Amino acid sequence: MTLAPSSPLPLRPAKIWTAKACDVCGEATALRALPRRRYELATRKHRAEMLLDDVVCERCGFLFAGKVPDVEFISDFYREAHTPNSAIRDIKPDFDAEARLITLRKHLKQGCTVLEIGANDGAFTKALRENGFHAVGLDPLETAQEEFVVNAFAADGSVGAGSTTAGKKHDAVLAYYVLEHVSDARAWLTEARDYLVPGGTLVIEVPNFDTHPVESLYPEHFLHLTPSHLRRLLQVCGFEVLECGEARPSRYFGFTAVARRVEDATQPAQLSAEEIFHAVQRTEQRRRDALNLITAEEERMDSLASQVIGMIQCHAQKPPAIFVWAANIHATRLAQALKARNPDLTVTAVDSAVSKIGTLHEGFASPVIKPGFEANEPGGHLFLLCSPNWNSDIREQILALGLPQVEIIDAITWKPAQA
Ligand SMILES: [Zn+2]
Repeated sequence: MTLAPSSPLPLRPAKIWTAKACDVCGEATALRALPRRRYELATRKHRAEMLLDDVVCERCGFLFAGKVPDVEFISDFYREAHTPNSAIRDIKPDFDAEARLITLRKHLKQGCTVLEIGANDGAFTKALRENGFHAVGLDPLETAQEEFVVNAFAADGSVGAGSTTAGKKHDAVLAYYVLEHVSDARAWLTEARDYLVPGGTLVIEVPNFDTHPVESLYPEHFLHLTPSHLRRLLQVCGFEVLECGEARPSRYFGFTAVARRVEDATQPAQLSAEEIFHAVQRTEQRRRDALNLITAEEERMDSLASQVIGMIQCHAQKPPAIFVWAANIHATRLAQALKARNPDLTVTAVDSAVSKIGTLHEGFASPVIKPGFEANEPGGHLFLLCSPNWNSDIREQILALGLPQVEIIDAITWKPAQA
């Protein structure tokens, strides 16, 4: 995740990091500080310096970034990091749209008005419109949007209303993988509630820190929500929770909450001292285990990247084309490690899953391609295999292609040579 010092992109630190209280229970002082996580996140124009001073709340066990950066830093980051390359068209969504629609059909009336906050390029807003909902989207991205997606930032730099179209009341507000990026969850949910008619429905999907702490601890996330913490948070923000964690998520690591705007919100039940003790213990243990896993994997991928760069430099003439096979978290780490060592390197992701082909996978500059290599293609091919379950099958597939110069490395089982 950290770029080499030689990277040409300038480092962009935040102007100020401000301490905050627990989003879930409001506790401002009994917050246990955990070791800082520092990342440099590459965007189109700069490396954003992310300083995550995680704290665990000693009143409810919620894990979150105890300090948040200034609005300008957040706005710049999302504008530069997530605006898709407008030259790339027909990118397929990286989420399960049908899973989302199943949950929505259960809770929403056909033809109701829907606001999707964090609509990105509008792929799901479009699906909503095709499925009989009067949907509009909101997103801060600059390009490649559908006309029904409004470009907007909220006051805290996150995605919020900014136009009269989007600012009116809706029957439902949806936000998929937005809340974990938000610096003040209570303010954000209060704003989301304001977009709802009384009794309107809020649908939130976020990474599940209980079941997928590695994915939850992604460096862009300020909040690490469990179903029980999100349930309590929604209750204090004026919602009645209809379901939380039961629906099929649209990404494997997430969970969905559906809540109703109520005017007489009930406060969540007090936790016992024993419940709090166990919640805090569990949170700290999960974070520790997840960070150990992430560090070990990043170090290994960095060593592999170093070997790959060395191999390429050995080629006197044209270096081989580099393919990372299987678009997943391992592929992302390997691509980022390669890019950190040589920002000019072209690395292409290959995957046979229809849901992934044509999508832009994290860490890669171009969409995932399907495995369709011609035996007579000129030049060498270097394949880095990243599928924990299918690498031996993929190797067979590659060998069957009969490419003239091919090198294959199993990136999952690869270990650095002992010094
Ligand atoms: Zn708390």
